[in-house]
Amino acid sequence: MHCPFCGANDTKVIDSRLVAEGEQVRRRRECLACGERFTTFETAELVLPRLIKTDGSRQPFDEEKLRAGMLRALEKRPVSLERLESSLVHIKHKLRATGEREVKSLVVGELVMEELQKLDEVAYIRFASVYRRFQDLNEFREEIDRLAREPVKE
Ligand SMILES: [Zn+2]
Repeated sequence: MHCPFCGANDTKVIDSRLVAEGEQVRRRRECLACGERFTTFETAELVLPRLIKTDGSRQPFDEEKLRAGMLRALEKRPVSLERLESSLVHIKHKLRATGEREVKSLVVGELVMEELQKLDEVAYIRFASVYRRFQDLNEFREEIDRLAREPVKE
């Protein structure tokens, strides 16, 4: 690992701990040349399956979209970001555990609902009522984006 300050090759790990439910290793490193300290996060490079949309098209798994959709459902609900992040970890874990290179986007939607049900009943109902109509997380996101752009009618 090169030092981001001086580019030296020799850096020493001074602290190492598991974060994000053990899915990540956070390392504090110190450069032996310049003495600067910096942090790295390491995640195992396990590829998530691509998603097959209802129209048959394929899309890469998009964690940001997923997080945004769940945040929307959890808006003003008493659920910490930490718990949301744990749910995302569970969802990704289950997707990887399928061992498939491609899964139907429906599978992701079902996993999201499973997690939301554990987090908050209201968020679950919000998500499920909209999602069931679309049956596709990407279409759902597009709908949410569209609603967000529309001016509020009184
Ligand atoms: Zn350095």
